[in-house]
Amino acid sequence: MPEPYETLEWLALARGDVDRVAERRRDDAWLREVWADPGTRVLVVERGKTLVRDDGEPRLLLLTPEAAPEGDRYLLGVDDDGVAYFAVAAPLPVVEGARPAGLRHVGAVLEDRDSGLLTHAVALEHWHATHRYCPGCGGPTELAAAGHVRVCPADGSEHFPRVDPAVIMLLRDERDRVLLARAPAWPQDRRSILAGFVEPGESLEQAVAREVREEVGLPVWDVRYLGSQPWPLPRSLMVGFFARTDGDRPLRPDPEEILDAAWYTRDELRTAIEAGEVVPPGPLSIAAQLIMRWYGGPLPRTPEF
Ligand SMILES: [Zn+2]
Repeated sequence: MPEPYETLEWLALARGDVDRVAERRRDDAWLREVWADPGTRVLVVERGKTLVRDDGEPRLLLLTPEAAPEGDRYLLGVDDDGVAYFAVAAPLPVVEGARPAGLRHVGAVLEDRDSGLLTHAVALEHWHATHRYCPGCGGPTELAAAGHVRVCPADGSEHFPRVDPAVIMLLRDERDRVLLARAPAWPQDRRSILAGFVEPGESLEQAVAREVREEVGLPVWDVRYLGSQPWPLPRSLMVGFFARTDGDRPLRPDPEEILDAAWYTRDELRTAIEAGEVVPPGPLSIAAQLIMRWYGGPLPRTPEF
């Protein structure tokens, strides 16, 4: 077993292993050359989905540049064998033996390379779709740097992909119980740990303390970083922590954010999950990995990948 504060070793969406070759993004001659190479591989993205092959383990359907549809093109990277990968934002073609799927469906089961490619592509696609206009002058912007920048031709300003950091924290009390809560929008039995967006002018640790105070009225200390993963659903980076608090203080759930919150020992959590009273978060999320670290292994009824 890893030490309690060792960083998380497996996070579904933090497994990308291709070199992003940022230095190539403005190298037009190189970009033309690799796009003309039939060994280059292209994944098509449309509204967060791509085509996945279904024979055996799910794998991305990767096309040659020639077979790829027209659309905005993003350079994703180059692997150890020198293969370049692009995403193209376009309607998904109909291909026999392949089906549309998004990160929520296949992010945890794709192999490392494919999970990373899709995570990167989906994040860029959403950013381009929602940042078509210049925040300075309101004019239309244009894609640049192989999909990693938008430029305003009117005033020359450059705009970079936006990522919203969010903290997610597993709270433990002096009896090593865990606090789980239910957000209003969740199904009846869904429970997870607390989370919230980082505000401007705030550190991650300050965000942890503020969110816990706002959501359940508790003070925190001993805030420890355990890992992070991109969460482009649509544009977050989830930063995971363990934190300590006083479990004897009354919980004061904020009704806007928390329907109910309760402390669980390991035995109580196992019993509640086995009885179907608590449905823990799924394997795609960092929440599940943080809870498993505290629990000491896989939770009962965790879906097999
Ligand atoms: Zn402008």
